[in-house]
Amino acid sequence: VRWTEGRGWHDGQLVPYAPLSMDPANMTLHYAQTIFEGLKAYRQPDGSVATFRPHANAERFQSSARRLGMPELPVETFIEACDALVKQDKDWVPGSGEASLYLRPFMIATEVGLGVRPANEYLFIVIASPAGAYFSGGVKPVSVWLSEEYVRATPGGTGAAKTGGNYAASLVAQAQAAEQGCDQVVWLDAIERRWVEEMGGMNLYFVYGNKIVTPELTGSLLPGITRDSLLKIATDLGYEAVEGRVSTDDWKAGNADGTLTEVFACGTAAVITPVGSVKSARANWTVGDGTPGEVTMKLREALLNIQTGAAEDTHGWMHPLG
Ligand code: PMP
Repeated sequence: VRWTEGRGWHDGQLVPYAPLSMDPANMTLHYAQTIFEGLKAYRQPDGSVATFRPHANAERFQSSARRLGMPELPVETFIEACDALVKQDKDWVPGSGEASLYLRPFMIATEVGLGVRPANEYLFIVIASPAGAYFSGGVKPVSVWLSEEYVRATPGGTGAAKTGGNYAASLVAQAQAAEQGCDQVVWLDAIERRWVEEMGGMNLYFVYGNKIVTPELTGSLLPGITRDSLLKIATDLGYEAVEGRVSTDDWKAGNADGTLTEVFACGTAAVITPVGSVKSARANWTVGDGTPGEVTMKLREALLNIQTGAAEDTHGWMHPLG
C-alpha cells in the first residue's frame, strides 16, 4: 500500500515476493524513516490459522509512525494486509505447535531528495517467513551482558518506537555481549545506567516468589505485546504482576539473598526465555540455580497454549483467519 501527500493511502496489492528497486537518493536510505512490526500466525487444532493480537501490533505501528513523523496507517488496513498475506501463504503456516508463520509489516519513505524533513511518499509492505520453534532441544536459559558503556535509547528519543535506528544503535553492544561469551545484551537507563530497561529484542520480568515485576514503560523501552499479555496471564494465574523499577543492584542482591527466584525475557520470537547468568564489567552472578524456573515455564506454557489453541482464548487475543 502506498501513501502520497494529499492523496493518503492507495493502491494496495498482493504481489509475488521480489526485490524493490530504489533511487539512490531515496530519503529512507539517508534519514532512516523506517518502522516495522513482528507478529505470528499459528496453526489451530482444527487446522485453521489465527494471528496473535494483530490489533495491538497495528496500534504500536501507529505510535511508531507518529514518533518518526510518518503517516499513520489505519488499523483496518494493517490487519487487512496481514490477513491477505496469511491467507495466501496458509500452506506455509506449520502444521501444529510452537512453529509459526512470522509476519514482518514495515513502512519506509519512498520520496527522492536530500533535504532533511519528513518525506511526502511512503510504502507499507508485509512479508512473511516460516519460523520454527525457538528452542529445538528444550528451553535453555540465555546468558546476558549488562551494557554500561552503550545505551540503546534516551529520554525523549525513539526507544518506544519500533524503528530501524534503535536496532542499528544496539549492534556494537550486542557484539560486545558475544565477545564476553553472553547470548544477549541487557539495556540500562541512559542517565544513571542502573535501571534495567529491556533485553535486545525482548522485555524482562523479575520473579519474587508470587510477585512478578516488569520494568515500567519509561518511554525508552519498547512496549512489548508479549510483556502486556503476560501481565494479564500472570494475574489470571494468581500472581501479583506489576510494573516497577529494578536496578542492577536489586537484581544482584535479590539473587544473592534468594528473594529474586527467577528472571525471564519475553517477545514474539522466543515467547519466553529464562535468563540464566548475568555478567557486567564489574560483576557476574547466576539467577537461581541457572536452570529454567517454575513460574517462567508455567507462564510460557499458558501463553503458548492460547496461541496454539490448546487453551481457551479468554482475552479475545486470537484473530481467526479460517
Ligand atoms: N524489545 C525490543 C527492543 C524488541 O525488538 C521486541 C520485539 N518486538 C520486544 C521488546 C518484544 O516485543 P513483542 O513482545 O511485541 O515482540
